Amino acid sequence: MPNCKQCGASIIFIKTVNGMSMPCDAQITAYRYQHKANRKIVTPEGRVLPCVLDGQFLPSMGYVPHWATCPRAGDFKRPAPDMEQITMPEVHYDKT
Ligand SMILES: [Zn+2]
Repeated sequence: MPNCKQCGASIIFIKTVNGMSMPCDAQITAYRYQHKANRKIVTPEGRVLPCVLDGQFLPSMGYVPHWATCPRAGDFKRPAPDMEQITMPEVHYDKT
């Protein structure tokens, strides 16, 4: 099993439906699909879905992208191009 080059955690590479390999935490995790949720889950089929991991009513199992949990995630390249439905709102503040 591969390890994260940044923190040494066990990770698993899942090939997504877009053909990219997504590094995920090796431990499969229960999730609940929720449209526009902040967290992302990668299903065993390689679909990247918005989800919540709130411990309540979690009928589905999938893998958490490792960049979401890695303590050194800041060293990761931005994974955004592979995401489905990702929207990162850009907020601009006027300094006046
Ligand atoms: Zn890591």
